Amino acid sequence: MTTKTRTILDEIGHTPIVPLKRIGKGLPVPVYVKCEHLNPGGSIKDRIARAIVEDAEKRGQLKPGATLVEATAGNTGMGLALMAAVRGYELVCVMPEKMSVDKRAALSSLGARLHITPNDPPDSPDNFRNVAERLAKTEGWFLTDQFRNPANIRAHEETTGPEILVSMGRKIGAFVAGAGTGGTITGVGRYLKRLAPGVRIVLADPRGSVLAHWVETGEIGPDGPYRMEGIGASRPPELLDRTVVDEAITVSDEDAFLMTRRLIREEGLFVGGSSGAAVVAALRVAASGDLQGPVVAILADSWDRYFTREWLR
Ligand code: PMP
Repeated sequence: MTTKTRTILDEIGHTPIVPLKRIGKGLPVPVYVKCEHLNPGGSIKDRIARAIVEDAEKRGQLKPGATLVEATAGNTGMGLALMAAVRGYELVCVMPEKMSVDKRAALSSLGARLHITPNDPPDSPDNFRNVAERLAKTEGWFLTDQFRNPANIRAHEETTGPEILVSMGRKIGAFVAGAGTGGTITGVGRYLKRLAPGVRIVLADPRGSVLAHWVETGEIGPDGPYRMEGIGASRPPELLDRTVVDEAITVSDEDAFLMTRRLIREEGLFVGGSSGAAVVAALRVAASGDLQGPVVAILADSWDRYFTREWLR
């Protein structure tokens, strides 16, 4: 490809994988992290934003200047804002109140219009997903639909998974990630299970989310509040394939946030709270002593989304 036709979108993905030199010291197997916070839009969601928009373009669903609408914890919104900037679309993001004001400020400066919804459960008409769906229908906007769009899983099967395999070889003991839509763990999990025999796929889930219990039993238990953003749910997301997940580890806000600060200060990895949760789970898996190879955990987003959060200080 010539430099003339290259855009910033070509820099999405092919992120580094590095070992945790200090935090992972003394464990039976090394722990590696995949630095998705180094994507151009600052998170792993750039991958699915590109995949979803390009898929819709190929299907002829997007006219020039079209308006995209998405229900987002913020990161998919940032990825879509990147797509919108480069390809000339408008963007509307529907985001629950719970998400940081840093994300609101970032999305607004990127020109996205914001709808902030109450933190309502999935059956409420004011739940962020229901509001985004309604807006798409009434306004004629294109719902990028990260929670149902198969291009979400495909992006991880075709890019994130293969990149991990190329970096690590076929000997991967375990892969650890949280789940918001479930796209990452389902897509990477399916790919690695095909090509890295014996790999264990591990879900890192916030205490208060129903996903860990559901993944292990198929039952939906009671949910509770938690402060981590972007992972966990009060109902299983459509794209999360529980048959891909071998084990679920519950992580408290306190443990996740403490680990996030350690990743920043001890490893120079400038990441957000879900990365801390993934690494807490990864260290537990690595310490279990029955793995055939290293552990790989996902660092999903950047710390700049949380500058006003007291847990970062
Ligand atoms: N971490 C953060 C911070 C996120 O915003 C998300 C996506 N909501 C995830 C992890 C989980 O990714 P996925 O949607 O692929 O499950």
